[in-house]
Amino acid sequence: MGEERELLERTARLARAYLDSLGTRPVPPSASTDELRAALGGPLPEHPADPADVVDALAAAAEPGLMATGSGRFFGFVIGGALPAALAADWLTATWDQNAGLYAVAPAASVVEETAEGWIRDLLGLPDRTSVGFVTGCQMAHVTCLAAARREMLLRAGWDVDEQGLTGAPPIRVVTGARRHVTVDRALRLLGIGRVALHTVGADDQGRLDVDELGAELERPASPTIVVAQAGEVNTGAFDSFHPVADVAQAAGAWLHVDGAFGLWAAASPQLRHLVDGAERADSWATDAHKWLNVPYDSGLALCAHPEAHRAAMSAHADYLMQAEPGAARDPLDWTPEFSRRARGFTVYAALRSLGRSGVAALVEQSCAQARCFAAELERLRGAEIMNEVVLNQVLLRFADDATTAAVLRHVQESGRAWMSGTTWDGRDAIRISVSNWSTSDDDVDRTVRAFGDAVTAVGAR
Ligand SMILES: *Cc1c(COP(=O)(O)O)cnc(C)c1O
Repeated sequence: MGEERELLERTARLARAYLDSLGTRPVPPSASTDELRAALGGPLPEHPADPADVVDALAAAAEPGLMATGSGRFFGFVIGGALPAALAADWLTATWDQNAGLYAVAPAASVVEETAEGWIRDLLGLPDRTSVGFVTGCQMAHVTCLAAARREMLLRAGWDVDEQGLTGAPPIRVVTGARRHVTVDRALRLLGIGRVALHTVGADDQGRLDVDELGAELERPASPTIVVAQAGEVNTGAFDSFHPVADVAQAAGAWLHVDGAFGLWAAASPQLRHLVDGAERADSWATDAHKWLNVPYDSGLALCAHPEAHRAAMSAHADYLMQAEPGAARDPLDWTPEFSRRARGFTVYAALRSLGRSGVAALVEQSCAQARCFAAELERLRGAEIMNEVVLNQVLLRFADDATTAAVLRHVQESGRAWMSGTTWDGRDAIRISVSNWSTSDDDVDRTVRAFGDAVTAVGAR
């Protein structure tokens, strides 16, 4: 007992030391692949080892291979940090080690999900009956929502997919924009909906799908139809025009699904809510808690306006399970593809409870203000061009030519002062800046802008 206490206290000190280092350590990892393999590799140990030694050795060996995504100067991909309350709740989640599949073995986890479900609906302005599955990320939120869509839309076409599968089913049509996220395609693939079912409509220079083209495609009668729209394009942060999208989707009797991995959180801000106007008319939404809500990995949310379809697509029954009476309590396995699962609701609950309505709005607005500040400051650098309308937390930047853009990006990355990734946009190399961390300060933005300034000087940008 004493040994376990000592181990956990020591581990808490290791965690604290890591968090304390975030302000000063280089953002990117320092170790090479070979160094990490030398430090972490080797054959399976034949015999037990002292737990404290295992944890010490793991911490020491892993440290140089950690990307400091929790740093206020990490702007890569779209990756949030970890709010203190959510991180602490995550420690407890591991400690309690609840199997949150069933109410019977995890009642607190179940009630926390129930509570957080209501808070999320409220915060994101979604219909009262919207059901929430606490999944691993937006990828599995797509799978969950699109499984509900597939089942429901086939049922409306007279086909029971649970009974008959997809062989011989009425062909499903999926209509979506050219700038959809790759996880939509993967979700469809996992659900047995092949590429022939996919009708891609054009997108504008910000990545917003072309509503006229969508309308024209939907006028071609075909059922069942699923439309996938987007709140927050992964590079530009752009939003589709949801009212016109919902109008044509509704007129065609289609199921409308929205990929709102981070963009859906605009709904939590009175200043930004207009960006998602009309998104509440969708049938389902996929979003993340581990991005903008700053919950530790992994945490996504599958949201569905048709709880019966959602539940029917996911639930499972067996005699040995002690399943809750319908309406009496929530069995989380009814709402996710997982059976046994980590009690993911605790961290989401803690994040929402610690921020409150005003705190979520402030977090989202702060990131957007910092993104606008980045755009204003970086645009002054020699040869720099901001490529997107900075409507949210994403900034796309390029220099005179691809070689210069790549050289500036590499220089900033290698400086260790900040880290972000690249992409191509409009056929040109670009640098992506995503502001998604609660702990990013205005000073972090200034320091990052200075790192860019030095990079521009160093590479002799034209
Ligand atoms: C990140 C992202 C996803 C995938 O989310 P995961 O949490 O990584 O599964 C899907 N869509 C968009 C727009 C994203 O930004």
